[in-house]
Amino acid sequence: MNYVSTRDTAAKPKEVSAAYAIKRGLAPDKGLYMPTEIPSLTKEDILALAKKPYYGRAAEVLAMFLTDYDSEKLLADCKEAYSETRFPGGAAPLVPIGDNLYALELWHGPTCAFKDMALQIMPRLLSSALTMTEEKLRAHILVATSGDTGKAALEGYKDVPGIDITVFFPVDGVSAMQKLQMITQTGDNVNVCAVHGNFDDAQSGVKEIFANASLAQRAENNGFFFSSANSINWGRLAPQIVYYISAYCDLLNSGEICYGDKINVCVPTGNFGNIFAAFIAREMGLPIAKMICASNANCVLTDFIRTGTYDRTREFYKTMSPSMDILISSNLERLLYLLGGPQITADCMEKLARDGKYTAPASVMEKIHTVLEGFCCTEEQTAKVIQDTFASRKYLADPHTAVGIGCVEQYISASRDTTKTVLASTASPYKFAADVCTSLGTAPASSEPRCILEGLSQISQTEIPAPLAATLSLPVRFQTVVDAKNMVDFIFKK
Ligand SMILES: *Cc1c(COP(=O)(O)O)cnc(C)c1O
Repeated sequence: MNYVSTRDTAAKPKEVSAAYAIKRGLAPDKGLYMPTEIPSLTKEDILALAKKPYYGRAAEVLAMFLTDYDSEKLLADCKEAYSETRFPGGAAPLVPIGDNLYALELWHGPTCAFKDMALQIMPRLLSSALTMTEEKLRAHILVATSGDTGKAALEGYKDVPGIDITVFFPVDGVSAMQKLQMITQTGDNVNVCAVHGNFDDAQSGVKEIFANASLAQRAENNGFFFSSANSINWGRLAPQIVYYISAYCDLLNSGEICYGDKINVCVPTGNFGNIFAAFIAREMGLPIAKMICASNANCVLTDFIRTGTYDRTREFYKTMSPSMDILISSNLERLLYLLGGPQITADCMEKLARDGKYTAPASVMEKIHTVLEGFCCTEEQTAKVIQDTFASRKYLADPHTAVGIGCVEQYISASRDTTKTVLASTASPYKFAADVCTSLGTAPASSEPRCILEGLSQISQTEIPAPLAATLSLPVRFQTVVDAKNMVDFIFKK
């Protein structure tokens, strides 16, 4: 199976291997790589996957997309990446939290957010790609993060031979815990830098660096090339397809559903990566009926799904779910490509770059409406969900997960749909402990991370996750803050 750019309108688009797509990250025309076909999952496939542990499911699904990779190596890598040491208690447990509602907890990895699910395996996929393509240069991973990707990428890539990593985060756009996790990162090949502005400023800066030919040359002269760990990279997206399939297997195994029963999926969304992975799982044949796209006050996707117009020219809100404070949802491009083809995608992306908005053709919106429902939660609604969910269901939800729960509730009251629903629970509540405490009615006594974590532990009678507790005693290593226009200098400073 090969990969093509979402913006390649040639009669015969240029095809590259999975290894090449993962090594490059972004296509030369700034498009995103997509597989030339979506493999299908048969009933027999799904029943066979249900008998395997998580890592076995991951290896099988990845092998369907990464056909140039050695399947034995994939299995060995998945076994390592999703091991009990890295994900104590299992990689993606499914926890019932209400009538017909299940939280798919994706945050039991080393950084306590769902990004670990992809970023524990992705460095291994890139390492293999460098070997398979006989790459002589070092890879330099550039990441713009709204908080969780940066830390998960640093943990995944630290001390991986042949690879360096630089992470940029918006200086005031991440939680105290997220910031502490990044600026205390260990490893000899890691670099972390804060940027003035919001996430979109940092992400645009990184995208420009990727697209700049003279910077690519300058990097090569210095012995390296740029690659990405954001969900614009297929190597980041493919591993995310697995956990929706895994959740379906777990529902089968526990007798909650029979094969063929459809489920709904709700995903708290920012860059549209996680939910797009669910869309691919559905395209493969996983019995998913509706997909609920959940947004916070930055409801650009809700508006798009409802009106067909994507308009990023609007006020930007800083919310307590910062990983969803995004006005340019990069992976929506992949959905446009799947449903409308490269010409429509290229046109829409050109308009987005030029005018900050575009209207998708009615034919594309019609397809979107058969699958996707868009809802959003205000900050007040999110806080109330955190409080109600803890009071009535004894479930402690982080603000991102709470947005998801709030959106499922809105969808159900609008539709009366009783289909069993899998909700992607995307972060440990301890990553956003101050806002969770405040939502529960007990604002923390100080802004000091240890005090905040201990406060939440006391209120909720739950334990602080070990990786976060360990971060509290690490020394700070990175303190630089730059303007977006100086990101390049930071990378080349050595
Ligand atoms: C990244 C993130 C999201 C959004 O995921 P996308 O793939 O960007 O849509 C939601 N919640 C948490 C906690 C995250 O870290």
